Amino acid sequence: MSTTSFSSLALPAEQLSNLDELGYSEMTPVQAAALPAVLSGVDVRAKAKTGSGKTAAFGIGLLNRIVVSDFTTQALVLCPMRELADQVSKELRRLARFTQNIKILTLCGGQPMGPQLDSLVHAPHIVVGTPGRLQEHLRKQSLLLDNLNVLVLDEADRMLDMGFSDAIDDVISYTSPERQTLLFSATYPQEIEQISARVQREPLRVDVTDDE
Ligand code: ADP
Ligand code: MG
Repeated sequence: MSTTSFSSLALPAEQLSNLDELGYSEMTPVQAAALPAVLSGVDVRAKAKTGSGKTAAFGIGLLNRIVVSDFTTQALVLCPMRELADQVSKELRRLARFTQNIKILTLCGGQPMGPQLDSLVHAPHIVVGTPGRLQEHLRKQSLLLDNLNVLVLDEADRMLDMGFSDAIDDVISYTSPERQTLLFSATYPQEIEQISARVQREPLRVDVTDDE
């Protein structure tokens, strides 16, 4: 069994066959470097370029943490914009096909509030969204993050470029310090170091930009 095989990870057999059906025969470099740590529950900050499979690098880990019978929001993925949030939700749904009844909800700005509020009447297990709209839901208490286990900052460099730093801090203020925090970014400007220092605890650093 090579270390780039998904079967080297402690995953449910149903997830391994789902990955097989998706045509994911080998882990990409960022998945091989990050997934063991992600699954162990520690914080990870990873640098990897677009198209390198970052969604599964955090998605397989967070799906593994969801207790479906617990109707609370247990994982949150912050994305810079709706198009990217939709892509993440789509990929998470593919990765979640092995298990029944995981509810994944996308909450982005520029969309009407009404349908989002209706969808939040029953808490989704996983929320994917943009920081500004999530702030609004947290203030209204239409979204509760008291049981959040995993927080992902996806495309963190682009979120900071778009001026979301304060909104991210505000969203995080609603979560428990015990959470696992995963940060993914294609570049590492100084601002990323600063936000990582603020929101992560002794993160494992993964940099696969030289391997690709
Ligand atoms: P990134 O977030 O790094 O830009 P994505 O997570 O969107 O990349 O993945 C890019 C594409 O690669 C997607 O179409 C995804 O389904 C596919 N993919 C991810 N992991 C694997 C894998 N291990 N084997 C084959 N395809 C994969
Ligand atoms: Mg991505």
